[in-house]
Amino acid sequence: MKKETILIALGGNALIRKGQIGTVAEQFENLKIPVRQIAKLSETYKIIITHGNGPQVGNLLLQQECCNAVPQLPLEILVAQTQGQIGYMIESTLDSELMELGITQYFITLITYVVVDENDPGFANPSKPIGPVYTEAEAKTVPYPTRKTAKGYRRVVVSPEPVTVVEKNEIRKLIDMDFIVICCGGGGIPVIREERRFHGVDAVIDKDLVSAKLAEEVGVDIFLIATDVPGAILNYGKPEEQLLRSLRLEDATRYLKEGHFPPGSMGPKVDAAMRFIRNRGKRTVITSIDAIEAAVAGAAGTEVLA
Ligand code: ADP
Ligand code: MG
Repeated sequence: MKKETILIALGGNALIRKGQIGTVAEQFENLKIPVRQIAKLSETYKIIITHGNGPQVGNLLLQQECCNAVPQLPLEILVAQTQGQIGYMIESTLDSELMELGITQYFITLITYVVVDENDPGFANPSKPIGPVYTEAEAKTVPYPTRKTAKGYRRVVVSPEPVTVVEKNEIRKLIDMDFIVICCGGGGIPVIREERRFHGVDAVIDKDLVSAKLAEEVGVDIFLIATDVPGAILNYGKPEEQLLRSLRLEDATRYLKEGHFPPGSMGPKVDAAMRFIRNRGKRTVITSIDAIEAAVAGAAGTEVLA
């Protein structure tokens, strides 16, 4: 029987959990939890892994701010760096977990570009918070736009819509050959297409939205978003909060409007799941990093339905 394909989008907390400073040892330890489940699932499913890079790119930005002796690197290069860094960490963890389970699989990390539109309205409005948290006074002294967020003042960067994943055909081929593919790290390296050439832009693409795009372009069966909460929660953080085990498109639209799923956190996840279903995707679940297998089995998370 033909194996179904699952795309699993790992949130930043797969590597650095809330309250941790994020040493390399911590990141390797945290990764075991999702990666062991993915290793087991690989016996039954073909697998694509995408991942965020918020904390890692934030640390690279901080390192840049501490040093003026070398040229500053644009975001596109920092995203490329984190694809290598996190790809390596996922691969080596996957290698150990597969070995422990006695499973043989091929896997590969792919540097991935994602085309954005130079006329995207996002370019006029930097909106995605990244990097360190500043006080109001510090925020006034940094050389780029900042915005007050729930955590404090943070740098905001341009976050355009993903138009297409440049390596989608390569990814499809690798999946057909039964490789576990790690790709689209940090939302992918944002590029603008000028006829047959690409050039990078100083922006960051949302990893949930690019994952939905890739899920559609490759034609995966299940699109799973793994984060640090059990799913989409109504009245999040209030005494009456309630985990939604299923969420219909029309209700999701209403809850988004009512502000239940804020931009930059649960908003893009619900948006990404909705896009996949609207584009005739079969099944999509938002779940926690600890419950990936349970969510695939239908026993955890929020399933977004047509
Ligand atoms: P990731 O790194 O996985 O993309 P994010 O921090 O971007 O994680 O998004 C997950 C966070 O969304 C949760 O930690 C939670 O604090 C926040 N959140 C905001 N609103 C909701 C909601 N309605 N339901 C669940 N989580 C929510
Ligand atoms: Mg996020």
